[in-house]
Amino acid sequence: MSYIQFLGAAGVVTGSKHLINTGDESGKQGLQVLVDCGLFQGQKEWRERNWQDLPIPAREIDAVILTHAHLDHCGWIPRLVKQGFHGPIYATPATIDLCGILLPDSGHLQEEDAAYYNKTRASKHTPALPLYTMEEAQQCLTLFHPVNFGELKQVTGELSFRFVRAAHILGSAMAEITLTTNGRPQKLLFTGDIGRVRDNQIAPGKVVHSGPTEGEDCDLLVMESTYGNREHPHSDPRPQMAALIRTTVQRGGTVVVPSFAVERSQKFLFMLKELMETRQVPNVPVHADSPMAIKAVEIFLKHAEEFSPDAKALIAKYGSPLEWPNFHFDQTQDESKKINDSPYPSIIVSSSGMVTGGRILHHLMLRLPDPRNLVLFIGFQAPGTRGFSIKNGAKEVKMFGQEIPIRAQIAALEQFSDHADTPELLEWLHTFRRPPRQTYLVHGEPQAASMLRNAMTQALGWNVQIAAYRQKVQVE
Ligand SMILES: [Zn+2]
Repeated sequence: MSYIQFLGAAGVVTGSKHLINTGDESGKQGLQVLVDCGLFQGQKEWRERNWQDLPIPAREIDAVILTHAHLDHCGWIPRLVKQGFHGPIYATPATIDLCGILLPDSGHLQEEDAAYYNKTRASKHTPALPLYTMEEAQQCLTLFHPVNFGELKQVTGELSFRFVRAAHILGSAMAEITLTTNGRPQKLLFTGDIGRVRDNQIAPGKVVHSGPTEGEDCDLLVMESTYGNREHPHSDPRPQMAALIRTTVQRGGTVVVPSFAVERSQKFLFMLKELMETRQVPNVPVHADSPMAIKAVEIFLKHAEEFSPDAKALIAKYGSPLEWPNFHFDQTQDESKKINDSPYPSIIVSSSGMVTGGRILHHLMLRLPDPRNLVLFIGFQAPGTRGFSIKNGAKEVKMFGQEIPIRAQIAALEQFSDHADTPELLEWLHTFRRPPRQTYLVHGEPQAASMLRNAMTQALGWNVQIAAYRQKVQVE
């Protein structure tokens, strides 16, 4: 009897890992496929799960099917490979391009963290080791195999799949898996993260346009629930964004934007460019501060086929951000440090988006104590991350062992979200051709998951359950 085991993103929004097993408990027989292989981020008790072994040996996993390039879905791949996995990793071409810069960067951050702990002796493990290195992350890229949207991929005799659009970020997909046991095919749908609905008016900050694929039908659904208890604002974020930036610059402050390095940052830059060209925002220097700043722009422009008409129009109008005067792409550490030499207002876009590491830490350390500055969030902040604390009114935040006082203005533009909210999720589910026999909610805080379960039961009458960590469920 086949089963699915939830090895992450159960009760939390990070660490997505779902094992499909058609064999016995020992894992030796049958097929074993991992859907997503993400890092746990946020609270320490979750991050420690990154160091636990899987319930089955990594070398016995046959393949990984990857929905998208966010680290909470792909960031554990180098660790899996380090532990002996050597099978294929299937992903869309855009996801592979993104992983090509994000995974080595993640390895680099792991090494930096370990070096920092060793320097300050803050770790009980001596010496502290990185989960994986930049080089190890680089090496695992050779295992990636591109699979285009809609293409049927036969993994083995008993398992095939195709990617359909999730409209969450560039390259993001849902995995429609057909599992055939004893001659009986069953369809499993893993949503990964689900993007905004098609109506472009209510999500002006999003880039990918087509909305999640409609008219799905499956026997078993594994679905995200990040925004299971919330509704996004429906207003255009641009007037608010312009007003926030204007006021900050007028009082001599700098705007710091923690943002996912690829796509989100570039869309923000395009909107900023337009606000500057239409004189709604003053022409101050803009810094995209990331070691992958230039590559990120190149990948963004290379995969423009997935974008909304809005985003395409902006690209056609303004061309490559790399050519814009007053926009700086700071790749090296020296360039990054130079930003801080200027006493004048500027706008700094830097990652990581949830302030879990990276250059954003240095910018915030310097700018948070000054009330003239603005920290502007344009992305989801997982509980337990520094970004979550700052966004939710903490008075201070710990960085590099120091408590940094928060006196800067803090604001958030929720319209930029690339997760469907509850009404949007229900709208998408209403397009299903039949109810799944089993539905499991993952990738949500307990409250969000349980509110979404209630909403789904009420609106659709489906049998919905909330996945628990390491729980095994039989494919009935
Ligand atoms: Zn995601």
